[in-house]
Amino acid sequence: MPHSAHEAVNTYFTEAARIIDLHEELYPVLTTPYRELAVQVPVRLDDGSLLVTRGYRVQHNGARGPYKGGIRYHPDAGLDEVRALASLMTWKTALVNVPFGGAKGGVEIDPKMLSKAEMQRLTRRFTGAIHHILGIYRDIPAPDVNTNAQVMAWMMDAYSSVHGYTPAAVTGKPLDLGGAPGREAATGRGCVYVLGAHCRQEGIDLSSQRVVVQGFGNVGSWLSHELHALGAKVVAVSDVSGGVFSEHGLDIPALRSHADEGQPLVDAPGVEILTNDELLATRCDVLVPAALGEVITEDNAEAVQASIVLEAANHPVTPHGDKLLGDRGVVVIPDILANAGGVAGSYFEWTQNIQQFTWKEERFNQELEDLMTTAYAATRAAADSYGCTLRRAAFALGIERVAAAARLRGYV
Ligand code: NAD
Repeated sequence: MPHSAHEAVNTYFTEAARIIDLHEELYPVLTTPYRELAVQVPVRLDDGSLLVTRGYRVQHNGARGPYKGGIRYHPDAGLDEVRALASLMTWKTALVNVPFGGAKGGVEIDPKMLSKAEMQRLTRRFTGAIHHILGIYRDIPAPDVNTNAQVMAWMMDAYSSVHGYTPAAVTGKPLDLGGAPGREAATGRGCVYVLGAHCRQEGIDLSSQRVVVQGFGNVGSWLSHELHALGAKVVAVSDVSGGVFSEHGLDIPALRSHADEGQPLVDAPGVEILTNDELLATRCDVLVPAALGEVITEDNAEAVQASIVLEAANHPVTPHGDKLLGDRGVVVIPDILANAGGVAGSYFEWTQNIQQFTWKEERFNQELEDLMTTAYAATRAAADSYGCTLRRAAFALGIERVAAAARLRGYV
């Protein structure tokens, strides 16, 4: 079994590459990153002391277009983790057929220890250290764990101070700075479009599903909001502080207001408290990991009670955990399909910035729904024709498209 996140993603790559008879000489070209930049990030703290940490930008594959992927601020955002996430972006952008390659960035930092001014200084130093490999037709960052529209605004400004005003240099920006109406909700909403397509295919009534969601940040809270609005019963949600549960379904709008005030979920009134481990084993139809990677493993996959696992987070299920779920007939809707609404929404924002023309949110959501349901249908058709899981089918489609572009460009 793989020892690192990048090896784990490559396990999924290899399983899918065998199905499509990919020529073995392409394996090293498609599994190793094109470029990895590791930089020192010194930050002067408000108390006058100096904190020095590391930051990374990994450009995995650019055969199909400019590199694209989020920036994560987290103590565990080391090079292997960022490499794994960059490779997932390559297969994701190809699967949903947006004209990008795959990249990811990270800074090894716990942003909860930083003031807003310190966050801004950190973001400017990191952008200053990597700006020479970014650009609207080179590499376009976006938000990820612990980064948001404000961080993207600082990145855009730091990039623009060297290269001139360039809103398309990053996506996920605030609306007042070239952001796209609909982008903030796009990842969570996209997950719900994919789940809806799966339910229609299987004859399942989405509005009657019991749902459990781990993570209540950008992705988890929007996804919970959309499912709640469709009538599904969201019985448990969690953040880093722990989980909250209600047998009759949680009041998601109230919990979002509570979280928006910066309050931990476990302090919300009128709910039962759960640990994150208990949350993953809670009785439900759909379990949605929407926080960090590798939370469903060989140690807890047997305890999962859901019949569908919707991977809103990136790489939330290890290969061993995936096998145990599959053996029990649990359908896993893989990350590169489920959460691709984020990069699809970023594509719409980038397109609008380049054209200097803003779409209405209705158009954004309609385009997003079309793109996500088309990707689900293609993945489902490939899974049926190969007789394999949705994950293998999704990787197979992504790999085929990247391999074709690499050959046509004469990379290989
Ligand atoms: P976020 O920082 O907005 O939210 C993360 C949430 O996870 C928070 O509620 C946090 O409290 C919770 N969390 C952190 N550590 C936890 C732990 N140990 N146990 C339980 N909960 C924990 O991040 P986000 O943007 O919502 O991203 C969540 C996941 O979705 C990540 O895997 C990310 O890579 C993936 N994703 C995000 C986007 C996007 O557009 N933001 C797009 C695609 C995929």
